[in-house]
Amino acid sequence: MSEAVKIVNLVKSYGDLVAVNDVSFEVQEGEIFGILGPNGAGKTTAIRVLMGLLDADSGTAEVFGTSSSEDPIGVKRLVGYVPEEQQLYESLTPREIFEFIASVRELPEEKTSKRVAEFVHALDFEKYYDAMVVTLSQGNKQKALLISALIHRPKLLILDEPFSGLDVRTASIMKDVIKIHAENGGSVLLSTHIMEVAEAMCDRVGILDEGKLVAVGTLEELRDVSKREGATLERVFLALTEQEDEVREGIDQLREALA
Ligand code: ATP
Repeated sequence: MSEAVKIVNLVKSYGDLVAVNDVSFEVQEGEIFGILGPNGAGKTTAIRVLMGLLDADSGTAEVFGTSSSEDPIGVKRLVGYVPEEQQLYESLTPREIFEFIASVRELPEEKTSKRVAEFVHALDFEKYYDAMVVTLSQGNKQKALLISALIHRPKLLILDEPFSGLDVRTASIMKDVIKIHAENGGSVLLSTHIMEVAEAMCDRVGILDEGKLVAVGTLEELRDVSKREGATLERVFLALTEQEDEVREGIDQLREALA
């Protein structure tokens, strides 16, 4: 099996803060891989280095063997990326954005507009197709970003917190998109705070904490590592990030405060 993502000994600092600290992991072709971690763990930073948007201090990141630092355009060709922060031209409409992306990527016009029309229909997005981005809700902007990421049939989808701000129906569609992409042989790297989503969807997860990868594997493997047999991913996550005691203390304090 070839590797969709290969990150080796990656280090990235902002001044004195080491945001990603000697992290290595791989995402196999056809795999849904989740990066989990508390706020500020370094998930977005690792993804931005992989996308070639940030330079690493040391270590390497590759997508299907293409180096993120040496050939960031090559990486962008292979990846459909939905960033955490929505960067869309506010004065354009989604239709204009999709057409712009198709032309920059030099995609065949007829086939691409058919594909976009199918996505627009599947995501119940017709009403917003010709509305200015500035007028869209967060969830609808997320849909526009998702369609933008899928237009060029990427082999790898990279989704940074794809479920934040989505309503139930849209979150469900997002899950379907991810699963169908993987069923068709595509690979997925997603970051999430939502343990139930990771548990239900990811073949393997990596847990980042303060820039360090503290564990990587299937849920079963992580249960073994954390010695939490039969536990939910949430319990395993709290154990591996050493937050179990803090959560317990917090609950006791809350009980007192709310009494
Ligand atoms: P979250 O789950 O809250 O989105 P994350 O795991 O994606 O967090 P990052 O956004 O990668 O974490 O941030 C990792 C650390 O780097 C944090 O301490 C953050 O404050 C810091 N950081 C991120 N971007 C910058 C920046 N441009 N300049 C300085 N520090 C930064």
